[in-house]
Amino acid sequence: MRETIYSLVLYDAFRQESECPLCLIEEKREEEALDYLLHQALMDVQTRGETNREGFCRRHFEMMYRRRAYRLQLALILDTHLAAENARLKKLAAGLTGRGRARPKPFSFLGGAEQKTGPEERLLQELRYQERSCYICRKINTVMEEHIKVMFYLWEEEREFAAVFAEKKGFCQKHFRQLLERAAQHLSSRQRQVFITRITEKQLANLERIQNEVHRFTEKMSHHNKDLPWGNARDALIRGIKKLAGICRLE
Ligand SMILES: [Zn+2]
Ligand SMILES: [Zn+2]
Repeated sequence: MRETIYSLVLYDAFRQESECPLCLIEEKREEEALDYLLHQALMDVQTRGETNREGFCRRHFEMMYRRRAYRLQLALILDTHLAAENARLKKLAAGLTGRGRARPKPFSFLGGAEQKTGPEERLLQELRYQERSCYICRKINTVMEEHIKVMFYLWEEEREFAAVFAEKKGFCQKHFRQLLERAAQHLSSRQRQVFITRITEKQLANLERIQNEVHRFTEKMSHHNKDLPWGNARDALIRGIKKLAGICRLE
């Protein structure tokens, strides 16, 4: 059942005109994940435990904040996330602050390499984790892995899908990288070689195409080239950025 739904979504995305069909899917999944969190999952104890621990990246904080109607929901999520995170930081910072402050070690000639980590290391680990972790990003990554798995299955098993796939203009660089990586996981070694060769040729050709389109755009911006036809260059700047950076809200 799940495979059928995923197949439909994949066919749909691969039939649309785009610089990356997987970005089309990811964009939808991102909206769904945000909707679900702010509408339904807010009262779910397990979800709140997860958002309290993981927090959000800048992009997803921004997206949630822009949904004006859900400011209270966002504040509730932020409130308990901050409470949980503050308690954690307080524990990790014990010994660094107030009375328990760590005393600086006396100067030592032997101090070099082995003294690289100090008493702040555990605190640093948590801060680094928080910079990288995001509840929404994790949810999207999990569901995208499933889509990619089904995509490989369709490419191998359904001639119709392989034909649609062959017509595409490649992917954004992140999804290109993911497909190169996942090919080993989901395809036999012979199929993997075929897939990697085809997708790499296609990606490089399309990166060249997009550069030509962006170049045409720069030429058109010049007063000397008023009469030069636009070709496909009108939205080349937006598509060029999307090709490199994936989902961007530029329109
Ligand atoms: Zn993409
Ligand atoms: Zn995120």
